Amino acid sequence: MKKTLLVVIDGCALDYLSDETTPNIMKIGRDGFFKTVKSAIPSVTNVNHATILTGSFPNEHGVTGNYYYNPQTGEQAFIEGPGHLKKETILDIYAKQGRTTALLSVKGKVVHVFGASVKTKISAQEPDKNLLNRLNLKNPPAVSSLEANDWIFNACFNLIQKDDPDFVYCTTNDYMMHNFAPETKQAKTHMAEIDHWIGKIYDLDHEREIYITADHGMNPKNHLVNMQKKLDAKGFNTICLPPIKDRYLENHIYQEGGTLYIYTKESVRNADLVRYLNSLPFVERVYEKAEAAKVFSLPIENIGDYVILADSTTAFAETENEDKFVEVRTHGSLHEQEIPLISVNARLSADAYTYSRDIVKYIIEDMESIKAL
Ligand SMILES: [Zn+2]
Repeated sequence: MKKTLLVVIDGCALDYLSDETTPNIMKIGRDGFFKTVKSAIPSVTNVNHATILTGSFPNEHGVTGNYYYNPQTGEQAFIEGPGHLKKETILDIYAKQGRTTALLSVKGKVVHVFGASVKTKISAQEPDKNLLNRLNLKNPPAVSSLEANDWIFNACFNLIQKDDPDFVYCTTNDYMMHNFAPETKQAKTHMAEIDHWIGKIYDLDHEREIYITADHGMNPKNHLVNMQKKLDAKGFNTICLPPIKDRYLENHIYQEGGTLYIYTKESVRNADLVRYLNSLPFVERVYEKAEAAKVFSLPIENIGDYVILADSTTAFAETENEDKFVEVRTHGSLHEQEIPLISVNARLSADAYTYSRDIVKYIIEDMESIKAL
């Protein structure tokens, strides 16, 4: 059976890829295909790892953010351990069939949330010393550094060369993308390093099924808005929850992102709230939860009473004042939904792929059709 590599370059907007900077990735695209697909909304990391790994949208897998809030109990927590996923991942399915899997991630939480069934787990945050020795790897650099992604792809190459697991999922940290635009020297150097390792992996076996995609895009923003403060000041009793919220503050120090879940308390006059939200020029869309659930395939019970999306240059944030005008790079809105998909030896032809979710969806369907024969 052919081997599969699924690479998710965290925050890899289309502009980071080019013939000049990433020639090996572009070659894979010429041997197979290169197209633009869409991430799940909100365009944040956890939601999209869950979407890609399960081949389903959040209404099936249950993950709606990097952060969790239970309005009944008031319980709030980061999603960084097992137990949040309602659906099997492709890694679980392979493991059940006795096939070998590997999960490599710069961010440790990805391994904790998605790695329960995985045989070989490598994270730059909590490296296993014995495994590093066996794979001839140096100690990893800091998670939020320009070197961490190079390290994880070096690990990926060494692992595939040595063990060649049946299914490998390798993902990075978007620290670079949050800090450097595609045209900067740092971004080009960094992307060339990733590209170097992907080229080496491809050359090990041209029959390998390879998918290279992103969890979300990345865009410059110049307006941060603290909606909680704005709504408090107007007397609307709400809890605003940013699905992007996580512990990687080097990436987004104000937890700034393009989607916000708004939970309303009983006393709130909903028509007034909706009218106010719609009057704000930087709020692109206001969805009542049932509509948001339908449009974006989200679970209605876990997205607040309203879902609002920011325009292309705004992010909702936990800033000291209601508004802060500052240059940042971040994601989370509809404007970071477009992502690349480069693939060779894919299960279906290019035109079948619309969402990043389709990659694993088609692998699972293909496995089921083989079983049915
Ligand atoms: Zn991400």
